[in-house]
Amino acid sequence: MKNILIQCLFCGILATGLWTTTLLLLVHLEQEDTLEKETEGHNRPPITHVYQQTHDSDRTINGKCPFLSDNVNFSDPELIQGLHQYGLNVIISRRLGIQREVPDSRDKICQRKHYPRNLPTASVIICFYNEEFNTLLRTVSSVVNLSPQHLLEEIILVDDKSEYDDLKNKLDYHLEIFRGKIKLVRTKKREGLIRSRMIGASRASGDILVFLDSHCEVNRVWLEPLLHAISRDHKMVVCPIVDIINELTLDYVAVPVVRGAFDWSLNFRWDNVFSYELDGPEGPSKPVRSPAMSGGIFAINRHYFNELGQYDKNMDLWGGENVELSLRIWMCGGQLFILPCSRVGHISKAPSLNRVINQSALSRNLLRVAHVWLDEYKENFFLQRPSLLYVSCGNISERVELRKRLGCKSFQWYLDNIFPELEPFHTQRKDMKSFLLAKGENAP
Ligand code: UDP
Ligand code: MN
Repeated sequence: MKNILIQCLFCGILATGLWTTTLLLLVHLEQEDTLEKETEGHNRPPITHVYQQTHDSDRTINGKCPFLSDNVNFSDPELIQGLHQYGLNVIISRRLGIQREVPDSRDKICQRKHYPRNLPTASVIICFYNEEFNTLLRTVSSVVNLSPQHLLEEIILVDDKSEYDDLKNKLDYHLEIFRGKIKLVRTKKREGLIRSRMIGASRASGDILVFLDSHCEVNRVWLEPLLHAISRDHKMVVCPIVDIINELTLDYVAVPVVRGAFDWSLNFRWDNVFSYELDGPEGPSKPVRSPAMSGGIFAINRHYFNELGQYDKNMDLWGGENVELSLRIWMCGGQLFILPCSRVGHISKAPSLNRVINQSALSRNLLRVAHVWLDEYKENFFLQRPSLLYVSCGNISERVELRKRLGCKSFQWYLDNIFPELEPFHTQRKDMKSFLLAKGENAP
């Protein structure tokens, strides 16, 4: 009897133990499941946000990247294919279609400003290469809808030898709705952004050239501040604030007032503007003096653009031209300002098939900038990019001649007066110094 009691007790303890273990196991599994669900968002296939520092796709303020949205379904093959091809969410772009309204991102002070009716006229130049159809059309329709018709001389679209079918007859057909305001120029071969812009400029007849990327949406009263500033000083070159259109959600996001800058690698970046600079009655509507422009979106007097030597036509494809033009403007008697009352949204594209930066073209372009404009400070550029020291950048004599003809100031003057924040390195490499001295003004 005693044995039976002991056996029963033992079985009871064993059964309780087993149940407890099973229960604990179930609770643990449940917890793991919840944890997995909570972190699912972080296990998405990585979408790398590489923003090219040298141009205006770099819209990171203080290094912060635009957000990822929970509404974007990363397992959708159409989304992934679109991102790969165009660098943006084509599903949303198609849904938005060829026009939409964006939020007014201007400061209240700007909203109260008035501009004279009589201003110079604008030729808006938009170059494109394999752009997503709706995105391109939204750029055009936003310009048509939000520019006073008497100030918009024309929109010049330059097709840089795009390959996609919908940018051929279908585009011609859709542009008809804008009746007469559009000139479409198609290049015979791929020219790259820099020469395409020059082709566009050569066809323009408005007083002011306004350059835009093909994936922008302009905001309310975007054009008037630009035209007004240039009408008062024909050597004034102006840029709007470039708001972000997120490439995944196509949400339009206002950015704070920033200025353009670059480092010794000649990589473009945005710098914050100190709050005290925006003090005073004009507040955040005050024009901001900018050492550099991002390149994609700016306005310049047409005659002044020609006088100043347009672009370096021996630069290829993409990049570097923005820093070159910025230096030329400042060093040769012009001015460059960002006007916070003018705002234009720009899609900060993800890397894609059509936006693979050609590094050798970019390096060569930057090398031309260094040799023509940096004087004795080009040593700083080579310290950052030593691999370019013995690379050829082609013939630069025409641009050196232009600098002389325009009577431009030294890079030292630019550092002292316009961009003192760009501090030179103190370590001077002897071998590089003698190499550069031996070269004199000539490029290798
Ligand atoms: N583009 C062009 N030809 C090229 C490269 C670019 O016409 O060889 C156009 C492109 O479609 C866009 C503009 O030039 O409208 C600027 O290029 P992107 O947007 O890639 O550069 P971002 O300045 O935004 O970095
Ligand atoms: Mn762009």
